[in-house]
Amino acid sequence: MLKVEDLHVKVMDKEILKGITLSIGEGELHVIMGPNGSGKSTLALTIAGHPRYKVVKGRILFEGEDITGMKPEERAKRGIFLSFQHPIEIEGVKVIQFLQRMLKNLRGIDEVDAYEMIFNAVEELGLDSSILSRELNVGFSGGERKKLEMLQAYLVKPRLLILDEPDSGVDVDSLKVIARIIDRLHRESTSILLITHYGRILEYLNAQRVHVLKEGKLVASGGIELVKVIEEKGFTAVEDNDATVK
Ligand code: ADP
Ligand code: MG
Ligand code: MG
Repeated sequence: MLKVEDLHVKVMDKEILKGITLSIGEGELHVIMGPNGSGKSTLALTIAGHPRYKVVKGRILFEGEDITGMKPEERAKRGIFLSFQHPIEIEGVKVIQFLQRMLKNLRGIDEVDAYEMIFNAVEELGLDSSILSRELNVGFSGGERKKLEMLQAYLVKPRLLILDEPDSGVDVDSLKVIARIIDRLHRESTSILLITHYGRILEYLNAQRVHVLKEGKLVASGGIELVKVIEEKGFTAVEDNDATVK
């Protein structure tokens, strides 16, 4: 459903991604790990269509369609949802209003139906409904931001969900809640690209494949066992010659 072919991406004239080839099947969960600055967020933002990231070579196919030159909104309409590493704060906009607008834009759901849908989702996911009457992300803890992002994803029901470090800066209890929502979407056959620094979140998920990104290249791809190698020996232990089938 997602095919990234020999993707080269520049940011402000500097090549950050240097030939990424990656293929995610229907309903699969793939993990990307890699050192700081290796290009993980760049890959996520490029797939979502952020204008700052220029594709200089290669292409991105989504469900057979070339989306390389598409605007972010067009990709979102096709079912690609990116959860940001640093979400925005908007004073004066309540979470509930924001979510209602989002459901209107992306799924054409009217305000009244959206209201009910949002409250039901909060209950299903075991979240605290008081979050809905707060201003968007203002004064939110790390865990609260991440939970809100997951609630968004759960409501959008994307075909492809891209998560950029949903586990960074959250405590163990929040991590479990976040992982549970990801797992739920995965079971509902959402395809997922999960970027993470830690193997911990993967204990709660059924990941099909792990890729290691270093200096803009995928240097290894394999099963979940790769995570153990990384956690024990670090990224320096994973070199090109360890690469299995990508
Ligand atoms: P990661 O998410 O793996 O930590 P990033 O994709 O954020 O890595 O960054 C990869 C490289 O691209 C870094 O060297 C970073 O400084 C550079 N980079 C990313 N975004 C920008 C930007 N907007 N402007 C300038 N450099 C950027
Ligand atoms: Mg980073
Ligand atoms: Mg990043």
